[in-house]
Amino acid sequence: MAIAPPDLTTPTLESRNPATGEVVATLPVDGPSEVAAAVAAARRAAAWWGGLGFEQRARRLNAFKRRLARDSAALCDLVHRENGKPLADAYTEAVLTVDHLAWAARNAPKVLRRRAVWPNALALNHAATVEYQPLGVVGVIGPWNYPVYTPMGSIAYALAAGNAVVFKPSEYTPAVGRWLADAFADVVPEHPVFTVVTGYGDTGAALCRAGVDKLAFTGSAATGRKVMAACAERLTPVLLELGGKDALIVDDDADVDAAATAAVWGGLQNAGQACIAVERVYVTEPVYDRFVERVVDLASRVRAGSGRDAHIGPITMPGQVDVIERHLRDALDRGARAVVGGADAVHRPYVDPVVLVDVPDGALILREETFGPTLPIVKVRDADEAVTRANDTAYGLAGAVFARRRGTEIARRLRAGMTSVNSVLTFATVPRLPFGGVGESGFGRIHGPDGLREFSRAKAITRQRFPLPVELQSFARPAWALPALARATRLRHGRR
Ligand code: NAD
Repeated sequence: MAIAPPDLTTPTLESRNPATGEVVATLPVDGPSEVAAAVAAARRAAAWWGGLGFEQRARRLNAFKRRLARDSAALCDLVHRENGKPLADAYTEAVLTVDHLAWAARNAPKVLRRRAVWPNALALNHAATVEYQPLGVVGVIGPWNYPVYTPMGSIAYALAAGNAVVFKPSEYTPAVGRWLADAFADVVPEHPVFTVVTGYGDTGAALCRAGVDKLAFTGSAATGRKVMAACAERLTPVLLELGGKDALIVDDDADVDAAATAAVWGGLQNAGQACIAVERVYVTEPVYDRFVERVVDLASRVRAGSGRDAHIGPITMPGQVDVIERHLRDALDRGARAVVGGADAVHRPYVDPVVLVDVPDGALILREETFGPTLPIVKVRDADEAVTRANDTAYGLAGAVFARRRGTEIARRLRAGMTSVNSVLTFATVPRLPFGGVGESGFGRIHGPDGLREFSRAKAITRQRFPLPVELQSFARPAWALPALARATRLRHGRR
């Protein structure tokens, strides 16, 4: 039998292990026609999936959940190779993802199913119901830094709400995206309910223009703007999960040891490549020296590398190393002092932990997303000054507060979608809590009931149960009817 020659006309994309440069996977670069075909197939699948009903969908989503839990070793190994993060960090992603998927499958009926609402006095003779119906096909565009947890935050909730999904993973982690869709197809073989298209930004742009019913984007604010502009052409609604410049505040009465441990973890884990990483720390004067001393002790023990003893891996995206280097140089040029690491912390593809103090307010490292293992610490007079400075940013994704007395009060005053008190990042582990930002950090919410509703359309129905003796919605209504109604309204709502 003659072997068909390879198709040299299809452009391909290679993902590489950021630590070794080895090719991990070679995948096609899908253009507008492949994307359109994927969306058309997903549309047919959506009719079937949406028609299954909550129970049948939950059965299949639970099979997907079991598959992820059972095969997490293979998935995490792939994440480790393609993204570079230590295996332990890959497992963190897998564990959180399975938990969210389980919650979404279990709770979709409770949150979305049809329920009766009180119709109020004006429509007392009607029954009123609200339900949340699937949108149809949801396009998901994802980043590389949490290639499982982040896109699955949209995908799991969109599927549980009855939608089909076409996912465009990052060009740095396309094999992880393909692995997820293949695992789903193994347990739901009937229709292409969750499929993947691969490629660079142009493939993502094609997905924005492919007539999906909603586009859930996670990535940088700069790309988010392009996504929103492309989606506007067809009035496709968007959900934007963008970057952050999250602050951690340490108040006078905080447990300083716990705050230092959390700051080092929140700032350095995943080599700082997290949208909700601690990117700035504001510490009140009375506890500042003790806090810095503890952070220096802890951060200087954190090792970057790829061996088993490494706490943090390489910087996945080579271009990000330039950003980190620029932010460090700018801060040091402006007079900041490095108390852990320094200008020589960058040795590609790794960046060693850097802790900076005396960082002046205008420094880039306090204003723009660094996305590296850096921790600038700023001394403030009190927690109120910390709140003012933490809020002085265009971003507003998350943050943390360490305080005994005023923790929740300070958390509520932070202009950010999520805040942890006396811990970091915890909100991301609670499936019932919404996840999303304000300002340059985006809008819309994944996770929890809000996340399920984000991928649904509210459908309102009234049904007349019996006619009223006087039909108000008729040109034949008696002349006294509306003045009488106005009088009743005055009596009910107009009194002091
Ligand atoms: P990015 O914006 O460079 O890319 C994200 C995705 O968009 C990729 O899949 C990319 O191929 C695609 N893309 C690029 N150009 C496009 C276009 N014109 N149209 C459509 N799609 C296009 O971001 P990144 O470097 O992959 O990820 C890092 C960023 O993501 C950081 O800013 C980080 O804070 C943010 N992030 C946010 C969250 C969150 O939940 N808020 C989670 C993780 C990461």
